[in-house]
Amino acid sequence: MRDQHPGVPYTPAEIANAAIACYHAGAAIAHIHVRDPASGRPSSRLDYFAEVLERIRAAGEMLVNLTTSGLDITTGDLTARRLEVVGLRPDLCSLDVGSLNFRDRVFANPPDFGEKAAAAMAAAGVKPEIEVFDVGHIAQAEHLLRRGLIAPPPLFQLCMGVPWGIPATPENLIFMHSKLPAGAIWSVLGVGRAQLPMITMGILLGGHVRVGFEDNLYLRQGELAASNADFVRQAAGLAAQLQRPLATPAQARALLDGSLIPGG
Ligand code: ZN
Repeated sequence: MRDQHPGVPYTPAEIANAAIACYHAGAAIAHIHVRDPASGRPSSRLDYFAEVLERIRAAGEMLVNLTTSGLDITTGDLTARRLEVVGLRPDLCSLDVGSLNFRDRVFANPPDFGEKAAAAMAAAGVKPEIEVFDVGHIAQAEHLLRRGLIAPPPLFQLCMGVPWGIPATPENLIFMHSKLPAGAIWSVLGVGRAQLPMITMGILLGGHVRVGFEDNLYLRQGELAASNADFVRQAAGLAAQLQRPLATPAQARALLDGSLIPGG
């Protein structure tokens, strides 16, 4: 929220422009939430999601990943309403397979949500980004994979350091990584001060990385990032130093559809 950082984008145009700036800084995929433009509160309005998607697509090749969580939905068929964004046919949508206590609330993803979400995304040709906040969530995703509900190669997002998910320690990231199914594509995020160490380890372990205001506000101790693109530039610099060149959006697409084998 803007009381935490005055540069947080609120309107669909601001959100799209922030993503486009990240694209120009080297990001291949933008993960998108939308907000009520006046209050900044999370929104589920499809027209906002559609506008952001359109604006980013008009600006280049960047892939778009729309969230199916963190919305303002409390009534009606929660699963159906969370999955409305799938119908916009973005490149990816987040797919949460497990529940956990998430700070002061319950992040509820009942077993049938994962099944219905996977089926809806498969039917729409949308790649699921399987978000896992603890090791049991990986096992639950494997259950969907074994039943053919998610096409290979699966894409996992290892979400490290969300209170009260798995803490963001080096040992825990190595453990989570060791539990991924063979052939999985994976990315890592770290919350708050864990963002930089977790993405550094992710780069070293051969994974992909996510950065930005959803997870962290500080570029370094005591210094707010000016924008989401600041984090992308920081990650791109790290990747360059560690000799892991950035994927272009075309390469990211090929990785996700299985036609480009990592390291091949
Ligand atoms: Zn998100």
